Amino acid sequence: MSLYESTQQALRTLGRVGHVSDDTLKLIGSPMREVRVSVPVKMDDGSLQVFEGFRVQHNNWRGPFKGGIRFHEEVDLDEVKTLALLMSLKTAVVGIPMGGGKGGVTVNPKELSAAELEQLSRGWIRAMGGVVGPMVDVPAPDVNTSSREMDWMADEFGDKAVVTGKSLTAGGSLGRDSATAMGGWHVLKALQERLGLPESPRVVVQGFGNAGRTFARIAHEAGWKVIAVSDSKGAILQEDGLDVPAVETQKDETRTVVGFAGSTPVSGEDVLEIDCDVLVLAALGGAVHAKNVGALETQVILELANGPVTGEADAVLAANGTVVIPDILANAGGVTVSYFEWEQNRAGDSWSKEEVARRLEETMNASAEAVWKLAEDGHMLREAAFLVALKRLEEAYVA
Ligand code: NAD
Repeated sequence: MSLYESTQQALRTLGRVGHVSDDTLKLIGSPMREVRVSVPVKMDDGSLQVFEGFRVQHNNWRGPFKGGIRFHEEVDLDEVKTLALLMSLKTAVVGIPMGGGKGGVTVNPKELSAAELEQLSRGWIRAMGGVVGPMVDVPAPDVNTSSREMDWMADEFGDKAVVTGKSLTAGGSLGRDSATAMGGWHVLKALQERLGLPESPRVVVQGFGNAGRTFARIAHEAGWKVIAVSDSKGAILQEDGLDVPAVETQKDETRTVVGFAGSTPVSGEDVLEIDCDVLVLAALGGAVHAKNVGALETQVILELANGPVTGEADAVLAANGTVVIPDILANAGGVTVSYFEWEQNRAGDSWSKEEVARRLEETMNASAEAVWKLAEDGHMLREAAFLVALKRLEEAYVA
């Protein structure tokens, strides 16, 4: 069964439990629109290449489609459709007035010069001219795209509210860089006591990129013990707690955490088996699967990455009492601040860092409470988050 089908099946089962109507379930069973375009680029050597661009618009009952654009050699349409669906659920869980979408270009961006990438970014949004727009579909960065590509796209389209994740000078929002990690942190703090976590939990972080290292820094600053972190080159362990800012300095200088002074080297697989209170998954989808789930020694998993725990592993964790804070809640801080950026752009406003932080905390706390309330009725947190989202989608459909 494909990822898309298994997600659909899970939603249908849950929807029935939660009395979501068959019509709603049928309607969110497939994306509202899938668009393919050709994006021509005049290469630096004078030749012409035509790239394939696409956009999956899953659902817009609650507001404009919202979701990233990736530049990747192997585009898996099944995965993109699933991610677009998950965006519809994510925006609903945090209650922001936006829907779900996902898109990209089939390309290996490492083989293109900056000038070629600029043509590609501008070409994608030109080709999607009638399909995206500030009140229609608002893309954002994703795999291999960043504020640079968003700035080009906003400039080409002629309205900064058409994309989020822009640089500050081009209309980006303060607080966007740390939003995903900060959102996950607020959810964890809101549930800390109820999950039976100690006052200063011991944390392991898989993936020391934007989301993972920012989370590690926030936890460290709050007095939690970050005992191990990993990146694609390996992992490091220090039982009495890592000096996270110093690890960050090393990562910036050497591009890896491996070899950090005073730490014990660990393999990327073994890091998941370290005894801890909170395991933060901030690297890749499918990191915890049927084969390695049995060796995990954590009380709580925070999914900062999208889909880092497979369905099979999820069932094992549920059976042994490990709590998983699901991606659609745990990493929704990113899309929440993206929504704040869109709001600021439309109003011609610019909020202070404190204002963004305050609104993010409020949104994440309210979302954590809504999910927890359903979890108290006997649902796992992932089911509860799906149900909160499904009910909000149904309300919008009925309205
Ligand atoms: P990133 O590219 O900055 O960081 C990813 C990190 O994971 C890198 O340090 C990389 O070395 C590491 N990594 C790769 N393979 C690994 C492996 N096998 N073991 C351990 N580490 C490995 O990406 P990011 O922006 O931090 O995003 C991380 C995840 O969170 C992705 O799944 C992304 O889709 C998801 N996410 C990010 C945001 C956001 O705002 N950044 C929002 C929602 C979801």
